[in-house]
Amino acid sequence: MPELRHDPLQKRWIIIATERAMRPTDFEVCEEPQKENTCPFCEGNESMTPPEILAYRDEGTQPNEPGWTVRVISNKFPALRIDGDLDRRGLGLYDAMNGVGAHEVIIETTEHTLTTADFDHDQMIRVLTIYRDRIADLKKDDRFRYILIFKNHGEAAGASLSHSHTQLIATPVTPRTVAIELETSKEHYREKERCLMCDLIQQETVFPDRIIRDDGHYVILSPFASRFPFECWVVPKVHKHAFETTTDEELSFLAETMKDILSRLKICLNDPPYNFILHTSPNTEAKPKRPMYWQTVEFDYHWHFEIIPRLTRVAGFEWGSGFYINPMPPEEAARYLSQAAPKSS
Ligand SMILES: [Zn+2]
Ligand SMILES: [Zn+2]
Ligand SMILES: [Zn+2]
Repeated sequence: MPELRHDPLQKRWIIIATERAMRPTDFEVCEEPQKENTCPFCEGNESMTPPEILAYRDEGTQPNEPGWTVRVISNKFPALRIDGDLDRRGLGLYDAMNGVGAHEVIIETTEHTLTTADFDHDQMIRVLTIYRDRIADLKKDDRFRYILIFKNHGEAAGASLSHSHTQLIATPVTPRTVAIELETSKEHYREKERCLMCDLIQQETVFPDRIIRDDGHYVILSPFASRFPFECWVVPKVHKHAFETTTDEELSFLAETMKDILSRLKICLNDPPYNFILHTSPNTEAKPKRPMYWQTVEFDYHWHFEIIPRLTRVAGFEWGSGFYINPMPPEEAARYLSQAAPKSS
């Protein structure tokens, strides 16, 4: 069983995942590109993966058989385990709990060589819809405080299989990066009775130097203090704290926006490795409950995607200081990306 351990100096939880150490790819220096007949994510190879949790399928097809368009499975090498109790415990100055959580893989397409930027509109909608379904479902489990959706594209971004997929990890604690955003948003709301991200979006659209695209529903921008060259955020223009409350109509616009930015990156930066992460509100029904703590989250937090092309390496200074050195001014990055003309589907 993996274990969650708390670092009291950094106020940070670490997953000690003994089982992950056995991942065969961890020990391989150079990996052969996956071929279609050996790829567990290709259609026809369903028996090579753990059983599916959810799939959108053609009528008349059976689970774990061909006939799907998007498919969710458990990660074969999970960082956390779905079964068991948390058993929160104090060990002197330290805190620990069992590594209970969900670690799922969302296989975004049956096609081995398609990247997310290549999907047609309907496929992009399906992928976003399945994110929404899985978050809504996992929020019913009151052991989980947070459900994090993230994508690793390309080996340098941490993808061990090239077939296009996203991952989901549900954790019994809120990740530190999100916890900081939740705190600052709450503080801003307490002082001003307004959402920080709404304020930020409003200001950015008045002085649109960092706006890459704005269709009235979603805005793509280079954040003012971008940590990485060509870092982008995708933010809904209408205030919304929880991704899973996105309507079908809104998802359709979001699909267009996500395809747009991923295509721009692909065109401008020659298909770079990248990560994207969905930051959304935590599971406020998780136990033990904190009713007073979440009083304003619906009004103060604002979900968004963070997209990070992996063009520079994070090294000693960044690790040691939390400072990032970004050689690309975000205004220039926005100008460059907004001039690209991605093909629409
Ligand atoms: Zn494949
Ligand atoms: Zn807002
Ligand atoms: Zn964020």
